Amino acid sequence: MVDAMLRSEDCWAAVASFCEILTGHGCFGKYLHHTAGRESSPDCKQCGAPLDTAIHTLVECAAWGPQRHSLTQVVGPVDSLQGMVTAMLRSEDCWTAVASFCEAVMLQKEVAEREREEDALADPIRRRRTGRRLRMYAHLLPP
Ligand SMILES: [Zn+2]
Repeated sequence: MVDAMLRSEDCWAAVASFCEILTGHGCFGKYLHHTAGRESSPDCKQCGAPLDTAIHTLVECAAWGPQRHSLTQVVGPVDSLQGMVTAMLRSEDCWTAVASFCEAVMLQKEVAEREREEDALADPIRRRRTGRRLRMYAHLLPP
C-alpha cells in the first residue's frame, strides 16, 4: 500500500510535510528560533502560543482546528506524533487523511513564513537570505 502511494508525484509534497511534522524541522517557531536562527522568538505566529512545535501544530493550535477536525473525522483523536504515525498505517483512508492534514497545514505555515520574510519592515533576522551559504560553499560544487 505504501509503495503504491509513494509512486504518486503528488504524494511527495505530503511526505515532505509529514517529515517536517515528524521531525519538528520545518516552519515551527521553536525550530526557526532555536535551530535555524530565523525567528526572534519561538512563539506560534498563527495563534500566539508561546511555543510553536510540531505537537502544538498537530494537537493544540487553534488555527488548524478545521484541518484537525477533518483529520480526526477519519482517524479518530490524535494526541501525539506516534499516534499520527499509528493512525496513518491503519488504512489508505487514514494515510490520506494524515497526509492531507500535514500538507494543508505545512503549506499554509510556509506561505505565512514567506510573507514574513518578504516584509520589508520585518526584523532583519526574518528576511530572506541572499545565498551567503551557497556562495560560501560554491567551490565545493561540481563545475
Ligand atoms: Zn498555534
